[in-house]
Amino acid sequence: MQEFDVIIVGAGPAGLRAAAKLAKGKARVLCVDKKQEIGVPKRCGEGLGLAWMNRLGIKPDKRWCLQPIYGAALYAPSGKCVEIKFNKVSGYVIERRIFEKELAKQAAQLNALIKTKCYAHSFERKNGKVIVSCTEQGIETQYSAPLVIAADGTEALAARKLGLNTAISLKDIDSGYQYEMANISFQNPNYINLFFGKEIAPRGYCWIFPKGKGHANVGIGIAAAERKTAKEYLDSFIESKPGLRNGSIIEVNAGTIPVGGFLEEMTADNLIVIGDAAHQVNPIHGGGMGIAMEAADIASEVALKALKRNDFSHSFLKQYTAEWYKTRGKNLQKLLRQRHMLEELSDDNFETLAKSISGEDVMKLAEADMVGSAKMVAKKLVRHPKLVKVMLKYLK
Ligand SMILES: Cc1cc2nc3c(=O)[nH]c(=O)nc-3n(C[C@H](O)[C@H](O)[C@H](O)COP(=O)(O)OP(=O)(O)OC[C@H]3O[C@@H](n4cnc5c(N)ncnc54)[C@H](O)[C@@H]3O)c2cc1C
Repeated sequence: MQEFDVIIVGAGPAGLRAAAKLAKGKARVLCVDKKQEIGVPKRCGEGLGLAWMNRLGIKPDKRWCLQPIYGAALYAPSGKCVEIKFNKVSGYVIERRIFEKELAKQAAQLNALIKTKCYAHSFERKNGKVIVSCTEQGIETQYSAPLVIAADGTEALAARKLGLNTAISLKDIDSGYQYEMANISFQNPNYINLFFGKEIAPRGYCWIFPKGKGHANVGIGIAAAERKTAKEYLDSFIESKPGLRNGSIIEVNAGTIPVGGFLEEMTADNLIVIGDAAHQVNPIHGGGMGIAMEAADIASEVALKALKRNDFSHSFLKQYTAEWYKTRGKNLQKLLRQRHMLEELSDDNFETLAKSISGEDVMKLAEADMVGSAKMVAKKLVRHPKLVKVMLKYLK
């Protein structure tokens, strides 16, 4: 049985980032993924903010940065639009297949061993180590390491099997469905375009993320518990838009997004959980690539310390959870409150907001600037006391 210092389950953005960081720290790393090709199929609108790239030290690269984004257009149910405009590039719609392969190549060049078509199905603690059993291109294999990093996305099998409660209620899951479309037209091809309304996307939104001329990811995220499926809502949305209705669908993607909050406990003996597996996504828009990679950095630091001390106990590893909440989780918890606020708003409330507030005001909300947002709500919506009451309840 081949031995490693760390076995990472899942080669998405979280797992690959952790693989590179740990390999750079001279750890012997194995990173396995059940997919036969890294990054394929994607479950993603492929929007990545420049602030995230800067924070993570990732340089935009023309091989995977397809479309620079200069802002966002938010559409109320009536079609009224609030624009958030930046005078410089604020992010990119990327080609995730290429982005993730680049992450994998970087990790491999640092001596992390990456294996695809390698499904990790069983996990057993034995003599201070974890034996990970995999089905690898049809053959049963086993690997062992004192530490497993679970980066296996919403499936979260590794953490579950190693005794962590990763259960999530249906109300806290969004169901995502997306078509990559060609030969389409839409307004604002340099913006991400978001469409709100109970009839369009209950408790969520439809999106058009441009990938180039006449080419975009057109998707939807809605509460998983809805009676109609996300696909049905998306098809109705596309049918309602003359510029989309005759386009070609060149890829279909589906996936779930854990938007209802984060695992309270993200470690156990011999285990650290990162990324979607720990529900680390932005609860408002469901974006998770940047958050997953940041969590991977925090986890890798703790894992390297654990290796140095030869201590893989929960009581040592749990500093990762504390550090993650300090760095990111507390801020995301504020956004979770705002999500609950948005869930209470009716379509009429959205219309009022679209007429009353500016793109800058939306940014205050998006940045979880609770004081600035509360002041803005009190000032701009003074003639709508019921709406102010609902919003202020969540902005304290
Ligand atoms: C429809 C949709 C649109 C989205 N749009 C955006 C967006 O525009 N921008 C953004 O930032 N985020 C977006 N997200 C969220 C984003 O995709 C995730 O937050 C991100 O991929 C999390 O990365 P991860 O590495 O934690 O998990 P994943 O990317 O899910 O990677 C997990 C990996 O683990 C592998 N795996 C699972 N189980 C096993 C196993 N037992 N053995 C081996 N391998 C295993 C999987 O094959 C997978 O490759 C979207 C999500 C959805 C569903």
